[in-house]
Amino acid sequence: MSENGPSANIKPIYGWVIVISVFFMSGLIINSQIQSGNFLSFLVVGGIIAMPFWIILTDSGATWLMNATSASSDSSSIHTTINNNVAQDKIVCSFCGWQNLTTNNYCMDCGEKIESD
Ligand SMILES: [Zn+2]
Repeated sequence: MSENGPSANIKPIYGWVIVISVFFMSGLIINSQIQSGNFLSFLVVGGIIAMPFWIILTDSGATWLMNATSASSDSSSIHTTINNNVAQDKIVCSFCGWQNLTTNNYCMDCGEKIESD
């Protein structure tokens, strides 16, 4: 629950009521306007038209948007963190690739002596 997001002034339930209303109304309208309208067109059109309302009016939509826009930088920072942890806490066995604790003198997997620099 964020008090600082764009939906701060709207109770979440009202945001969802609007999103679902827009979804059903746009889906019903498009199906009444096109002859090949079916359940799929109802879902697709309703989803596309309701999506901006979902992002603007609900916390989950705002959260999704933030995750989507920062996904690339997030994943690279996660990878950097993992690599740093490996470099700091583990030593990779040069024989089998097992990640041993730096305190180990012998590989936990293959038993070879670990060459540390
Ligand atoms: Zn090994």
